[in-house]
Amino acid sequence: MASTLVGKKAVVIGAGMGGLTAAGALADFFDQVIVLERDTLPSEPVHRAGTPQGRHVHGLLLSGQPSDAIRALEGRVWQRAVPTTAIEDYRRRFTVLSTRLTGGRSIIHVLADGRPEEGFESVPPDLEDVYFGELRRRAA
Ligand SMILES: Cc1cc2nc3c(=O)[nH]c(=O)nc-3n(C[C@H](O)[C@H](O)[C@H](O)COP(=O)(O)OP(=O)(O)OC[C@H]3O[C@@H](n4cnc5c(N)ncnc54)[C@H](O)[C@@H]3O)c2cc1C
Repeated sequence: MASTLVGKKAVVIGAGMGGLTAAGALADFFDQVIVLERDTLPSEPVHRAGTPQGRHVHGLLLSGQPSDAIRALEGRVWQRAVPTTAIEDYRRRFTVLSTRLTGGRSIIHVLADGRPEEGFESVPPDLEDVYFGELRRRAA
């Protein structure tokens, strides 16, 4: 069988999730993989200076297949362009998933079982809708 080695030594900078994943992938193709990390890595799962984002509260929102979560929203995500000044009114009246300023117009996504009102068009849901929908569900 032909060797899969492509080199003797690979160097990865940073031992965060990205660096360690890359090192794991490279290990099959190099004799040696060296990971350079500026922090002294602790032996326990504790905060460290090199990954300050680790102090933020994290939580698992959903488990399962992303495609299933998207499918569950099919036919329930509605979009329309609205004046930015009207967004708060829409928030009061509907379950607004997201607002996005595009080309000077605010595009809102609303979660509803039927067309919320004239002017809304049905759009295919995506993972962003899943994420904001789950946040809204938990906040309710
Ligand atoms: C404020 C904030 C909040 C976040 N919240 C979430 C969240 O809720 N959910 C989520 O999934 N993701 C979140 N993320 C994103 C997630 O943290 C990153 O996507 C992930 O940590 C990136 O992994 P990484 O390995 O690429 O980089 P990092 O985890 O940042 O790791 C980089 C590593 O490189 C090392 N390093 C840096 N410079 C050098 C150098 N010169 N020499 C040697 N080593 C070096 C660092 O010490 C560190 O160990 C958040 C990010 C931030 C900034």
